[in-house]
Amino acid sequence: MAIFRQRALNEASSHGTSRFYHEDGPVSKYFGLNVLDLDKMRKYMSQEAYEAVLASVKDGAKLDRGLANEIAAGMMTWAMEMGATHYTHLFQPLTDSTAEKHEAFISFKNGKAFEKFNGSALVQQEPDASSFPNGGLRNTFEARGYSAWDPSSPVFIMDGTLCIPSVFVAYTGEALDTKVPNLKSLHALSEAAASVVNLFDENVKAVKVNLGIEQEYFVVDESLYNARMDLRMTGRTVIGHTSAKDQQLEDHYFGAIPSRVNSFMKDFETEAYKLGILLMTRHNEVAPNQFECAPVFCDSIKAIDQNMMLMIVMQKVAERHHLKVILHEKPFDGVNGSGKHCNWSIVTDTGVNLLSPGKTPTKNLQFLSFYASVLRAVHKHNYLLMSTVATLGNSYRLGGDEAPPAVMSVFSGSTLYDVFKSIMEMDEVTESESSNLESIKIVNSIPEIFPDNTDRNRTSTFAFTGNRFEFRAVGASQNVATSVYVLNTAVAESLREFRAEVDALEAAGEERAAAVMNVVRKFITEARDIMFEGNGYSKEWELESQRRGLRAIKNVAEAYEVYHEPQTIELFDKMGVLAPNEVEARFEILNETYVKKLQIEARVIGDMCLNHVIPAAVKYQNVLIENIKGLKDIFGDEAYMNYCSSEIDTLKQISTYVNRISSDVQALVEARKKANRIEAIAERAKAYSQDVKDMMDKVRLSADNLEMLIDDEMWPLPKYRELLFF
Ligand code: ADP
Ligand code: MG
Repeated sequence: MAIFRQRALNEASSHGTSRFYHEDGPVSKYFGLNVLDLDKMRKYMSQEAYEAVLASVKDGAKLDRGLANEIAAGMMTWAMEMGATHYTHLFQPLTDSTAEKHEAFISFKNGKAFEKFNGSALVQQEPDASSFPNGGLRNTFEARGYSAWDPSSPVFIMDGTLCIPSVFVAYTGEALDTKVPNLKSLHALSEAAASVVNLFDENVKAVKVNLGIEQEYFVVDESLYNARMDLRMTGRTVIGHTSAKDQQLEDHYFGAIPSRVNSFMKDFETEAYKLGILLMTRHNEVAPNQFECAPVFCDSIKAIDQNMMLMIVMQKVAERHHLKVILHEKPFDGVNGSGKHCNWSIVTDTGVNLLSPGKTPTKNLQFLSFYASVLRAVHKHNYLLMSTVATLGNSYRLGGDEAPPAVMSVFSGSTLYDVFKSIMEMDEVTESESSNLESIKIVNSIPEIFPDNTDRNRTSTFAFTGNRFEFRAVGASQNVATSVYVLNTAVAESLREFRAEVDALEAAGEERAAAVMNVVRKFITEARDIMFEGNGYSKEWELESQRRGLRAIKNVAEAYEVYHEPQTIELFDKMGVLAPNEVEARFEILNETYVKKLQIEARVIGDMCLNHVIPAAVKYQNVLIENIKGLKDIFGDEAYMNYCSSEIDTLKQISTYVNRISSDVQALVEARKKANRIEAIAERAKAYSQDVKDMMDKVRLSADNLEMLIDDEMWPLPKYRELLFF
């Protein structure tokens, strides 16, 4: 067998099942061990400093710089007790990953070393902003950017380094990360939501968002992974014939977890628990070697930070097990890809989940106000929301027959849907009617709404699941912050308008309940096209969604154009989340990232075909040629007729594919070069998304056909059946 593949397979079979991160005792004993939470903080600083941090965490109060030195010293003491030697600001640049730059807790004076961690270093670091995606907001010659501590997320220790969750902004103040707009969107949402809740309850001052992020992923043996340059370079297989058996027997979902993976899971859970991540569930997913884990939901900023950490922890722990975690959205053709389901709800500072149907008519009126506002927001900005999941990786998955469709729709479940239908059929509630409470009769008639929890629709992009919405289209490797801040902002806009419309009706003399009901009805009616209860994968929905004017994400580069639409720019600006130049920067970055990633994939597929596939094909061609020649020597011309027609046929096919693949790789290089000459990034991205991608598909087809024709012993790359089954 080809040496490389054989070695990888041998190594893979020698990798055993062990535990490396074992903690004694129940989880409660070591949960949060590596996090400096408020409780621990009290022991390391004065009351004044502690209270300053507390105010900053609880109410977002600005931290007094005068106290920063003391807070930093306390943190350093704790961190050193825990064995840390370095600190870093940890931020989330526009790369879907995290960034860190470690500095030692040390200073030197007169040749002597002193432990040191200044308040100024806690509060602010200065990474070179030009080395991160900045969409033209920073030029290299004025590259300063700031990362600043975000006290709403606690500091923690990972691998001997004190990590300080931070925001990342340009010297001139523009956001260069996903956290700043997310914090701003929460502010906008809180204000707008409180103003709507105040129609029913005066005591509510603020709301927050809760998120539960389900994470899907694949696990592959490290040696096999390393033997495939495509997995190493791009996170997915750019060639590879499907395995005879993959997920068709539906035997993997919720199946017994392979023991090697089980030990790995227990190990990464242990490490995650120490970081205070509330991991709750683990199970096999649909595709072979695909799994899922989910934490208990919590405050959205924390949930996002923790999901980012979880992805790092999983990959680090996997190394010890000689495993690789694949977070790519579509690592293997022909089997399901991986997503990250975002369970999203809004809760008041008094602890009420605003997406939970109430027990009384008024509570239901409040619930309906929020539900209607979310519906309207998702309807109005459906394409923008979908564009937040339009990444190269996700483009291989969305709109297939597995992941959510590439078009937005909201699933409510039959109970709620019927409520909405009757609300829409209601005539406008008039003042006279409102006196006998006709307006809320409908609400009265359903004193308690029990949405059917089993009434799940897994083909919907945005599904209501009883007390929250589940946005199911986010890609497995993405930072969900972008989808979340777009959703928050859109909902904030709708809620603001909701309140304004109710106020206007009240000012015109309408009773509050009637006014609210009228606006609910108006919002639901306006947004009716976004509601869909059927099968989101069906042809019927594809046609129906087009008829309703809902745009599907067909092409990633095209989807980004939504950032140029006035409605988008106005939304972000009006809600104080992103200024127009920040939106433009994001547009540039999205296109650039798309082009760069696709460029890497195109190069990798070219290399693999020229350096691995064609040489293997030629070797096998020679074997066939020798065989045919030998048969001819023995049997003469009769050999062609009777004894080697199948070898000749195979030889012809191989020769055809070899020729085709080499000319297609050439054409692929040309397509890339041509696209690279296009100055405007958005146009370049479009050329990549069409011409380059089309050529890649062609190349792959020949390579995958060759894989089926060539002697298995000679094929140099681990095959799907080897990668996908433990
Ligand atoms: P399923 O796969 O059936 O959707 P999981 O248990 O895997 O369910 O994940 C559901 C996620 O939703 C969990 O992270 C859970 O904590 C979260 N969740 C539950 N209630 C809420 C809520 N009110 N707000 C936000 N997330 C929630
Ligand atoms: Mg789940």
